[in-house]
Amino acid sequence: MHYAIIADIHANLAAFTAVLDDIERRGGVEEVWCLGDIVGYGPDPHQCIELLCQYKHVCVAGNHDWAAIGKIDTSDFNPDAAAACHWAAQQLTQGDIQYLDSLPLVAQRDDFTLVHGSPRDPIWEYLLSTSRAKQNFTYFQSQFCLVGHSHVPLVFECSENGACLVSEFPDDAVLTLARNRFIINPGGAGQPRDGDPRASYAVYDSEARSVTHYRITYDIGATQAKMVEYRLPMGLVSRLSYGV
Ligand code: ZN
Repeated sequence: MHYAIIADIHANLAAFTAVLDDIERRGGVEEVWCLGDIVGYGPDPHQCIELLCQYKHVCVAGNHDWAAIGKIDTSDFNPDAAAACHWAAQQLTQGDIQYLDSLPLVAQRDDFTLVHGSPRDPIWEYLLSTSRAKQNFTYFQSQFCLVGHSHVPLVFECSENGACLVSEFPDDAVLTLARNRFIINPGGAGQPRDGDPRASYAVYDSEARSVTHYRITYDIGATQAKMVEYRLPMGLVSRLSYGV
């Protein structure tokens, strides 16, 4: 069976649609595993929730999902993120709000724990260093953990002797899940931040016991044009061109 691993859609419908089309082109998946931040930054918060709900899926809550429904305030957001979040809040239907409010902080699937930020602090903590990752391996029981939030595709590997390594997760790389424990970030679907503007996602193959990372081009200009039309912050518009 195949499962799609998608993080940080961020209301970017063009990117999300391109990811879903790519998944279908590869034969489809049993279920979509969404790592949170469906909304925030981008121009199509309602449409992205609606599209995700058309698929069999599980989704955990991200900081932007909670901020958009007032579950946390935006005082810790930068001004652009806060402005986009307030705009997103006005686009949500009652059903969208109920849906976002229903998202759990942690979900379990197969041998995976799914969280947005980190298993220790699912809403806020960024996992970018081996020292932080190493601490976080004690906060989940399953063999593997899937995270988003940093929008950077990375693989943290912890061996039986406790040593922890981090490696990039390049385009088309296949990660074989053997005995070691892993924390895997599939990268950002709707707002990549690793210098590559293409949408990023991964697929778990339960028979092969592997996770494959994919990058795909999408119509960045279409998303940017809507953001300009809706007067979303220009910094958020331009960063999509560069993947930062
Ligand atoms: Zn995010």
